[in-house]
Amino acid sequence: MKVFPHQKARAIKPGSRRPAKELCSDCGLCDTYYIHYVKEACAFLNQQIGELEEEHHGRSRNLNSEDERYFGVHQEMMAARKQEPIPGAQWTGIVSTIACEMLTAGIVEGVVCVQNTKEDRFAPMPVIARTPEEVLAAKVNKPTLSPNLSVLEQVAESGMKRLLVIGVGCQIQALRAVEQQLGLEKLYVLGTPCVDNVTRAGLQKFLETTSKSPDTVVHYEFMQDFRVHFKHEDGSIEKVPFFGLKTNQLKDVFAPSCMSCFDYVNGLADLVVGYMGAPFGWQWIVVRNDLGREMLDLVKDKLDTQAVMSKGDRQQAVQQSIPAYDKGVTLPLWAAKIMGVVIEKIGPKGLEYARFSIDSHFTRNYLYLKRNHPEKLDDHVPEYAKQIVGQYQLPD
Ligand code: FAD
Ligand code: SF4
Repeated sequence: MKVFPHQKARAIKPGSRRPAKELCSDCGLCDTYYIHYVKEACAFLNQQIGELEEEHHGRSRNLNSEDERYFGVHQEMMAARKQEPIPGAQWTGIVSTIACEMLTAGIVEGVVCVQNTKEDRFAPMPVIARTPEEVLAAKVNKPTLSPNLSVLEQVAESGMKRLLVIGVGCQIQALRAVEQQLGLEKLYVLGTPCVDNVTRAGLQKFLETTSKSPDTVVHYEFMQDFRVHFKHEDGSIEKVPFFGLKTNQLKDVFAPSCMSCFDYVNGLADLVVGYMGAPFGWQWIVVRNDLGREMLDLVKDKLDTQAVMSKGDRQQAVQQSIPAYDKGVTLPLWAAKIMGVVIEKIGPKGLEYARFSIDSHFTRNYLYLKRNHPEKLDDHVPEYAKQIVGQYQLPD
């Protein structure tokens, strides 16, 4: 039997080697013999989004189109929600539903997704699900860095030929770079946007500084109404305005990988399911290529859909928040609440909210990289992100 070069390159011990050092997002690649390709594959060592877009979508994003500059290569965007939401899913469960349908229809033999450990609802446990029940056991975000690619060796060993991988941008960048080595006949990639991720310890700090009852939080999301919504075990929802977050204490909570990421919208997935470009309560769908369309078509009869919309003007709000974030200013809660209400009434909505979030994070991350890893600035920031950041005046 032919032995591939990477199969001799087993990591000494899972987690023991991380060539990206502090910028490592723990995507899991280095827990496998695919560590052999890490220098080319790691999203933090070799930014190659443009080249990989060309390889997988047939072209890189059109920088003359504002929609593509922001949201990546796509055929279509829409807002959607399940007619019958999956209880306990992050939103309405479109991601889990697509994965279940693909298994049931025999389109794939397995799904890489993330369950949680028995002891801790937020501790990620990547698995290859082979049944809809196992997919459903992975519903809801584990809002922590998750080594999804650590199961890739099991894929090769299982002899599986058709696979669906669910993941966030950094995981998908590394996956795309080693895709040809996996011995698969068909790979589908269902992505979610991702931002401001944390280690498990960082998550604890975030919950403790932000929620009134950190131990009972079952899920949370940074919502389009400019508040963090914490859902608690008893079903109650606690809302904390973004502008009231203790930014001075939270500055170091987000993982350095996420502070230097410019792939918020998961540009290399076939289909992306998030929420930020959709009206409140709806999910946001980005169909990047024909495989993405095939996945979406499988569940379309279970969805209500509507066209994407865009309203408001984000740019002033973004510009004003740059120095505030930079200096770690925190507004008193009463002021933050008033600001939240005003912004919600007149602020950006739909795709303009998504642009607001991208602009805020890209400017913050650009400054982080400039200050902490200036030698990486030129190669690591993709051209589309340089153009987005270039719209704003940044402090030195
Ligand atoms: P579900 O049906 O509940 O399925 C969730 C899926 O996510 C599961 O299949 C699971 O395997 C996978 N998953 C869970 N945790 C992780 C993880 N840590 N890494 C990789 N995969 C995971 N959308 C936005 O529009 N804007 C954002 O800023 C944004 N930030 C996000 C940050 C994180 C860390 C994650 C995981 C997702 C984020 N999303 C964001 C996506 C959004 O929160 C929902 O996950 C998405 O809309 C799907 O909802 P659903 O109800 O269809 O998912
Ligand atoms: Fe390895 Fe992934 Fe960390 Fe890069 S981000 S060093 S590929 S585990």
